[in-house]
Amino acid sequence: MKLILLGAPGAGKGTQAEILSRLCAVPTISTGNILRAAMKNGTPVGLQAKAYVESGKLVPDEVIMGIVRERLAEPDCAGGYILDGVPRTIPQAEMLEQLGIDVDVALSIEITDETIVERMSGRRVCSHCGASFHVANNPPKEEGKCDLCGGELIIRKDDAPETVKARLEVYHRETEPLKAFYEARGKLRTVDNQPSIPETTAAIRTVLGI
Ligand code: AMP
Repeated sequence: MKLILLGAPGAGKGTQAEILSRLCAVPTISTGNILRAAMKNGTPVGLQAKAYVESGKLVPDEVIMGIVRERLAEPDCAGGYILDGVPRTIPQAEMLEQLGIDVDVALSIEITDETIVERMSGRRVCSHCGASFHVANNPPKEEGKCDLCGGELIIRKDDAPETVKARLEVYHRETEPLKAFYEARGKLRTVDNQPSIPETTAAIRTVLGI
């Protein structure tokens, strides 16, 4: 299974990617998580990415593709993978094709901007492993603590309302055209965001036939 998850920031790509990863026993490659870890560790890539990420802008394509190329070459990706948050621009999708990375499906999670804005205010992420939670829709078992690794849950800097607005604009301008890109290749599938996480997972499983 080689799957791309498309959708606006906050559509639930990360949450669904974690669930599908476990279900299909393939790794999730989340460029957002990789960048956040790099920023936390102060690596050269992290330092390069920081200003873009914190203001809701896209990190330059070359930086992203370097990360993805390296990660996909690791042995655990041999049997498939889920790409969460990449590609995010047409040039990134073209670069993936040039690298010979051929996905089976690009699945877009459809959601309105209004729902996103409402939802982002409650999002919490693990500062250690990147897992995401929501204070109302997907609360951790213990407040402020990650269910998976016990790490501290924090609010992402780029989830501030003004930055969310900027990220949605970037999504509509740069990322949404990818739907037509994959449609033209016969690979696009869409699923509507559902009221709960399990219902969205169920809708995705139906669309993917898994
Ligand atoms: P995410 O966790 O996927 O919402 O990503 C958080 C931020 O990381 C984005 O707002 C971008 O600044 C940056 N980022 C993640 N993936 C990409 C990508 N494929 N291309 C450019 N920037 C990215």
